[in-house]
Amino acid sequence: MAFQMAKSGQRYFEIMNIPQWHEAGYTGKGIKIFEVEYDTDHCQQVFEAGKIVAPDAEFYNREGIRREDLLDYVDHIKPNIVAMAQDFNMANYEWFAKGLHERGIPFFKSADNDGDLIKPNELAYSPYVMTIGAISSHGNKANYSEYGEALDFVGFPIIISGTSITQMTSGAALTALLMQRYGQMTPYQVYCYWQNHCKDLGELGFDIYTGYGMPVLPDVKEVYEMNKPNKIILHHSATDGGTFESIKKYHVEHNGWDDIGYHYLIQQDGSLHKGRNEKTVGAHCLGQNDSSIGICLVGNFDKYEPNDKQMKSLNDLIIDINMRLGITEIQGHNHYSEKTCPGIYFRWKDVVKLEQKKEQVSDWAKEAWNKAVKKGINDGQGPKNPVTEEQMMVFFDRLGLLD
Ligand SMILES: [Zn+2]
Repeated sequence: MAFQMAKSGQRYFEIMNIPQWHEAGYTGKGIKIFEVEYDTDHCQQVFEAGKIVAPDAEFYNREGIRREDLLDYVDHIKPNIVAMAQDFNMANYEWFAKGLHERGIPFFKSADNDGDLIKPNELAYSPYVMTIGAISSHGNKANYSEYGEALDFVGFPIIISGTSITQMTSGAALTALLMQRYGQMTPYQVYCYWQNHCKDLGELGFDIYTGYGMPVLPDVKEVYEMNKPNKIILHHSATDGGTFESIKKYHVEHNGWDDIGYHYLIQQDGSLHKGRNEKTVGAHCLGQNDSSIGICLVGNFDKYEPNDKQMKSLNDLIIDINMRLGITEIQGHNHYSEKTCPGIYFRWKDVVKLEQKKEQVSDWAKEAWNKAVKKGINDGQGPKNPVTEEQMMVFFDRLGLLD
């Protein structure tokens, strides 16, 4: 059974930047979505819609799984995202929502199709649930979507109307593209991300008919350029061997990423290999990928130390980054995660120490310096920088010597 995308669906599809993300290789590859439903046919429809947004995600349904076994099933299949439509006979699933939350798995729930206010006793009110409603093809409240305080986001009618479809297309499947890019995200990270990446369809801010609005992926080019590094994060490969090529291959083929996750990799022979562009967001340290440069040394430093050649390459690279970007902070992956990375035997004492260059004006020059800054003859920056010939001519001119 294949569904055709509605015309309006195509339009929203483009507004949400989904075609660009597909073209850039983000298709939900490596991401597992578990859809919790009793009705297998209905679930199949939801999957068809989900596959339009995330064609390479893996979809799981609950067929044959008893209600009380749902969390065991979650622990068994380890989904990245869970979604739920159709609330028939499903009252009181708070324990399930809470269980997912404790496991760090984002949970999307349809706002349901009565067209009424969401009833206060419904799962939609749970703090562990992101509730997705639907908008009409004109971009305003759809009369089949429930609404109210508990509504978080809305989606567009991609094939057929209904919030069962939107909880998948604008919730779970859209988030699958995001997780392919950034790695697993916590429920709170997902919630904040979409709050900040919404197309506002109602009043500015929260609206009872459209929630925070319709989640929209940023321009994929922006995603490539987003890294604003303020620190270096060090990793080990936690493998006894491996090359740039083999690790890149693993990241691309196994993890489904578009490139190796790191910005630099140092092999055991000490050779330095460039991974992602420094301006590109990495995939190496959850929560820090858009504000760091990730460097990985090949080896398992939980078992032995990195060798001298590797430490030399690393220090040269750190100094180079420091000179170009002024970054002074260096952390291990373990600073942000439970992992031991870059390993318990990593040679921290041999990592070059960087200090912010303190550009201070010498005492004997202070008076003249301050006067010159006040008069606008120089900009007050870099008192110890050499002067170029062109700057000198500007100084002469500003001093009135050339007229
Ligand atoms: Zn690491």
